[in-house]
Amino acid sequence: MKSKIWLSSPHMGHNELNYVNGAFETNWIAPLGPHVNAFEQGLQEQTTTKHAAALSSGTSALHLALILLGVTQEDDVYCQSITFSASANPIAYQGANPVFIDSEPDTWNMDPQLLKTALTEAKQNGRLPKAIIPVHLYGMPARMSEITSIANEFNIPVIEDAAEALGSNIHGKPCGSFGDFGVLSFNGNKIITTSGGGALVSNDAEMIEKARFLATQARDATPHYEHSQIGYNYRMSNVLAGIGRGQLEVLNDRVEARRRNFERYKKYFSKYNDVGFNIRFQEAPSGYHSNRWLSCILVDSSFNNGLSREEIRLEFELENIEARPLWKPMHQQPVFLNAKRYLNGVSDKLFADGLCLPSGSNLTKEEFQRIFECLDRVFVKYQNR
Ligand SMILES: *Cc1c(COP(=O)(O)O)cnc(C)c1O
Repeated sequence: MKSKIWLSSPHMGHNELNYVNGAFETNWIAPLGPHVNAFEQGLQEQTTTKHAAALSSGTSALHLALILLGVTQEDDVYCQSITFSASANPIAYQGANPVFIDSEPDTWNMDPQLLKTALTEAKQNGRLPKAIIPVHLYGMPARMSEITSIANEFNIPVIEDAAEALGSNIHGKPCGSFGDFGVLSFNGNKIITTSGGGALVSNDAEMIEKARFLATQARDATPHYEHSQIGYNYRMSNVLAGIGRGQLEVLNDRVEARRRNFERYKKYFSKYNDVGFNIRFQEAPSGYHSNRWLSCILVDSSFNNGLSREEIRLEFELENIEARPLWKPMHQQPVFLNAKRYLNGVSDKLFADGLCLPSGSNLTKEEFQRIFECLDRVFVKYQNR
């Protein structure tokens, strides 16, 4: 069996192990310590936000943001439909109702017009949501200026799910800094990783202080353990924050490598587009800078001699190359079948035609060779149909 080519695998730099060793040497193995503080500082600088809390996952960051905004049973929370389930699950943790909003075709992210339609209707019915969760899918910034201005119009806070978009920006303003809260993830497949971890960022000092309090079991300031609220165990370990510090040092390199991957794919597919195929990409509006966490293609079989993304995925599978359909929209998920939704057909089509290609920042020339040879075989089969 040929060695596996991963969709997105961890890529360590030079300093991670030094920081981890430092934690061992000083016995800071706890869910607090100097690496946690320094990592939080680094995240603030990277996202140009004033405050950051390093947490055990991006999911826990989303959960805490909802709690801090007072989301509770029977509340509505608007969420982009095409996303990883972690964007929506915390809404259910709170017993609240997710309402799914479809995407617009360029960025593949929350459609501002549809959001406005939903909010206008909700206002008439006296049922405005407690929060709005747009997502920067695969690193591409959502249309944040439109989304935040509509949210402001209706006075609804925005939780920006930037789990896939560390290092992305719009006209230089970093993803994670647009909403009332920004959510980051350092899971193993993300652009930088602490093996598992996340962060909540915001300019609101009080909110982030409260997040830290809730994330450490909500212990009141007494010598004994006193609890007047339900707490959580959501803080990041100092050992893992050490990995995070090393990873932040190489973030720019990782972004550049992923953006080069995207250009490489784009160039490769252009040779087939020139002879009549129609392979499409996630397009960056002017001024939008995506970290290109994952390079994805859309393969509509009716414009490609019957070639579908599934054909490509299965050919990759035979070669031990990992590729995946785009996220299945939340409104199609069995667990959310009863949730309210505002649809325009875009995310259904993205899911039907979309494929995420191997996109690691550590892909080698030889691995790209294997990927392209595999794709060549598929295209040759469909070329003369
Ligand atoms: C990865 C991811 C999350 C969750 O992050 P974890 O750290 O895995 O809990 C949330 N939203 C999106 C869009 C993600 O891709």
